Amino acid sequence: MFENLQEKLGRAFKLLSGKGRISEKNIEDAVKQVKLSLLEADVNYKVVKEFIGGITEKALGEEVLKSFTPDQQFIKIVRDELIKMLGEKSVPLKLSSQPSKIMMVGLQGSGKTTTTAKLGTLLRKEGRKPLLVAADVYRPAAIDQLMQLGKQIDMPVFTGDRKNPVKIVQEAMQQAVRNINDVVILDTAGRLHIDDAMMRELKEIVSAVKPDEILMVVDAMTGQDAVNSAKAFNEALELSGFVVTKLDGDARGGVILSIRHVTGKPVKFIGISEKPDGIEAFHPDRVAGRILG
Ligand code: GDP
Repeated sequence: MFENLQEKLGRAFKLLSGKGRISEKNIEDAVKQVKLSLLEADVNYKVVKEFIGGITEKALGEEVLKSFTPDQQFIKIVRDELIKMLGEKSVPLKLSSQPSKIMMVGLQGSGKTTTTAKLGTLLRKEGRKPLLVAADVYRPAAIDQLMQLGKQIDMPVFTGDRKNPVKIVQEAMQQAVRNINDVVILDTAGRLHIDDAMMRELKEIVSAVKPDEILMVVDAMTGQDAVNSAKAFNEALELSGFVVTKLDGDARGGVILSIRHVTGKPVKFIGISEKPDGIEAFHPDRVAGRILG
C-alpha cells in the first residue's frame, strides 16, 4: 500500500538526515521533494498547494533548524499535515432509524457490490443483522453477484421484481421489518460514466427511503477521475461519506489524500482486498502511518 509515495517521501526525509546542522536551503529542498512526491501520487493540485503551505511554515521554524534530529522533526510535521488532509478523526456510521438504511452508490466497477457484502460482514461482526438489497436492475449480473456473495457469507439478499428499483427498495424495507433486520444495505445501479438517468433514479430512491447513510464507493486506482466523480455525486446526492476501495493494489494515494478536501465529506471505510472481510473503518492516523511506512 502506497509503496511508491512512501519511497518518494523517504527521499525527502533523507535530505535532512545524517547532517550535523541543516540550513533553510536543506529544508526547502526537502519540501520540494515532498511536493513532487504528492504530485506524482496524483494528489489534487489544490490539496498539494495547501499541504505544502502548511508544512513549509512549520518546517522553517527554529525547532527543525536547531534540532539534533531535523529529519524526525520534519517527518512529524508531514505526518500531522497528512492526518489533517485525511480528516483528523474517523467518522463512524450514523444509523439512527429502525431499520437503518445504507445506500451504496458509485460508478460501475468501483467495487460497489463487493463493498455491500463487505459492509454487511463488518456490521454483523458488530452484532447487527443486515439485509442486502440488489437494486441494480440494469446489470442482471450485479444481482446474481450479490446473491452469490450473500450465499458465500450466509447473509440474506432481497431481489424483488428485478425491474423497478424504488419498488424493490420499498419491498425490501417491509421484508426487513418482518425478519427483524436492523440494517438494510442497498446496492444501487452504477454506470461507466455519470449520466442524468442514473442520478434521477438514485434521487428517487433517496426520496423514497430517506437513507441514514449514502456512501459512495470509489476506486483508488482511478486517481483524480474518481475525485471528480465524487464531487459530482456529492453535489447531486448530498453524500454522507465514501468508501475508497482497492487500496491493496498499487494505488498511488491521490484519491485518499484528496477526496475529503475536495468534497468536504469523510472517508468512512477503506477496501483492502477482494475478500468479504477486506474492509476496514478509516482512521486518518493509521493511513498516515502506512503512507510514511
Ligand atoms: P461494482 O460494479 O461497483 O459493483 O463493482 P464490483 O463489486 O463488481 O467490483 C469490481 C471488481 O473490483 C471485482 O473484481 C472486485 O472483486 C474488485 N474489488 C472490489 N473491492 C476491492 C478491493 O478493496 N480490493 C481489490 N483488490 N479488489 C476489489
